[in-house]
Amino acid sequence: MGKALIIGAGGVASVAVHKCVQNSEVFEEICIASRTKSKCDELKAKLDGGKTKITTAQVDADNVDELIALINEVKPDIVMNLALPYQDLTIMDACLATKTNYMDTANYEPEDTAKFEYSWQWDYKERFEKAGITALLGSGFDPGVTGVFSAYALKHYFDEIEYIDILDCNGGDHGYPFATNFNPEINIREVSANGRYWENGEWIETKPMEIKRVYDFKEVGEKDMYLLYHEELESLAKNIPGLKRIRFFMTFGQSYLTHLKALENVGMTSIEPIEYEGKQIIPLQFLKAVLPDPASLGPRTVGKTNIGCIFKGKKDGQDKTYYVYNICDHQECFKEVGSQAISYTTGVPAMIGAAMVMTGKWNKPGVFNVEEFNPDPFMEELNKWGLPWVEDFNPVLVDELPEEAKQSELVR
Ligand code: NDP
Repeated sequence: MGKALIIGAGGVASVAVHKCVQNSEVFEEICIASRTKSKCDELKAKLDGGKTKITTAQVDADNVDELIALINEVKPDIVMNLALPYQDLTIMDACLATKTNYMDTANYEPEDTAKFEYSWQWDYKERFEKAGITALLGSGFDPGVTGVFSAYALKHYFDEIEYIDILDCNGGDHGYPFATNFNPEINIREVSANGRYWENGEWIETKPMEIKRVYDFKEVGEKDMYLLYHEELESLAKNIPGLKRIRFFMTFGQSYLTHLKALENVGMTSIEPIEYEGKQIIPLQFLKAVLPDPASLGPRTVGKTNIGCIFKGKKDGQDKTYYVYNICDHQECFKEVGSQAISYTTGVPAMIGAAMVMTGKWNKPGVFNVEEFNPDPFMEELNKWGLPWVEDFNPVLVDELPEEAKQSELVR
């Protein structure tokens, strides 16, 4: 069918590459390009010999000219941006210059402020329309599958969705007192920021980890979960008509939070540069360097993830609730692709999103979030490629749970 240029060779890219190779009917050819070419070559060495032709390249994705040169050389049908959110705009610029489709799994973030918002990327809409190319934003799990779940719920079960709660549970245990499951810098920026949710057209801000609930997740059990801001809240608040409230909760263990609090209190999570022995360093980047590489957690992580959305709304004038979620087993993922479930649950939808664009199912000029397309083919592919989903029409709602003690001491 076609050719994809994959930028990045980290945890998520590694899974996506495995999945592209499994889906060789669509991905006849891939080029893996990243800052450190040896990581691309390692992936190629592991997966070469199948039907998908694999090439590798070195690229600095902060440099638009380098990207343009690479795209002109590879001539892909789509660029899959699986590097970091800091590279989103340079890669989009290069796609515009070469009239190439684009996809990513996380919204743009400037390196010097932890600011998650779509405005920068949505600004490209007209230019992508004019160039006749598609940009698919946020095709991971959350954002990504959570948006597809929302579009699916609206299409098949509701006349109007009033409330969405996204519940992201990681019941995995890697045995370390403190480690992050994906890029530590991105992860810590996300959890140490203020919480925020959207209600009646307004954003309501909370302290980090201020709102806590205990939820009994299927196949995982009871876990503490905390309200966080997460980027799909912004696009879903805009794209799901009639929505009254949308919130996002993520589970964290006590050990993780205690360590994070201590690191925060001593200034290690700061993104303000400091001077150390005549050199400017960013404490959070230094912390990343001393923490275990997320890729090394795979062999030692046991347990499951359970991520999904609970919807409440109206169908034929009646109240209706619906919960759709995926359960993913860390060890099963590791057996299949050599990565734990966090990278797996992101890498699989990244491959599917790219395939949707390449096969023309999700191909329209402009810049779109996943929930703006027909969810049905994507939902089918989730079942096919390792992320089957489960439906519950009588779920326990978050609003039915008792509110737990506030955790706002985390920020003191
Ligand atoms: P990793 O840190 O494991 O990998 C990032 C990769 O990008 C590395 O190979 C890195 O190269 C490469 N890279 C970084 N900067 C550049 C650059 N300037 N030029 C070229 N390559 C570069 O991250 P993950 O794989 O965990 O995450 C990838 C993306 O997925 C992130 O944007 C993350 O936010 C997103 N994500 C989305 C989720 C979702 O559900 N939507 C969930 C989890 C992650 P090098 O090896 O040299 O460092």
